[in-house]
Amino acid sequence: MTNADPIELEKFSQLAHKWWDPHSEFKPLHDINPLRLGYIDRIAGLAGKTVLDVGCGGGILSESMAGLNGNVSGIDLADKPLQVARLHLLESGKQVEYRKIAVEQLAAEQPGNYDVVTCMEMLEHVPYPGSVIAACAKLVKPGGWVFFSTINRNPKSYLFAVIGAEYVLNLLPRGTHDYAKFIKPSELAQSCRDAGLNIGNITGMSYNPFSQEYSLGNDTDVNYMIACRRD
Ligand code: SAH
Repeated sequence: MTNADPIELEKFSQLAHKWWDPHSEFKPLHDINPLRLGYIDRIAGLAGKTVLDVGCGGGILSESMAGLNGNVSGIDLADKPLQVARLHLLESGKQVEYRKIAVEQLAAEQPGNYDVVTCMEMLEHVPYPGSVIAACAKLVKPGGWVFFSTINRNPKSYLFAVIGAEYVLNLLPRGTHDYAKFIKPSELAQSCRDAGLNIGNITGMSYNPFSQEYSLGNDTDVNYMIACRRD
């Protein structure tokens, strides 16, 4: 049994052709990318590192990590986003190894193989996020870093991530996010510890609807990232 929701994968396949259009449904991913890339690089130092991007989609983060001289592989279970990711390499000239495989299966194949594992904006789309977290922990080398980002679960995140983004600002297609699948930082931190990871840092990524800009800070009410390290 694969830990994936076919309806979720189909949603991302349907939109895949727009992945690299910064004015499309993927605008939020383009907008947050420099912030999360800087965060990952400051903590883990990407140059020369072997990096795995789990749930890589069309490759926005994967390519940017390759641009900082990481040796990057990306995995996803949706076909079309992976095809778009591979095609985009022809345009960008970057090098990323893309593969369709479940993270749990890769963890069985290549345990302890990566210096850095990233899994951004994906946990809230899978049936069993704990299984993805455990697989990421297994894939990273001892002493290596694992990064997750997801959406907090509270009235404010419902208002911003569902009502605001999908119904008021029309940033995202309706139905992109299921509130019940949002994950509180305390829950994510507990799953990371259960998987043998130590929490290094939790940082919020907040959106200002007036300036229409994202920034990093202490506000983890809606979007946030966590950096953890394997013993
Ligand atoms: N991580 C990328 C893309 C986020 S969109 C970024 O932040 O830029 C969410 C991605 O997760 C989609 O590409 C979707 O296909 C993928 N996804 C959803 N469920 C998955 C699963 N069970 N296994 C692997 N990828 C999955």
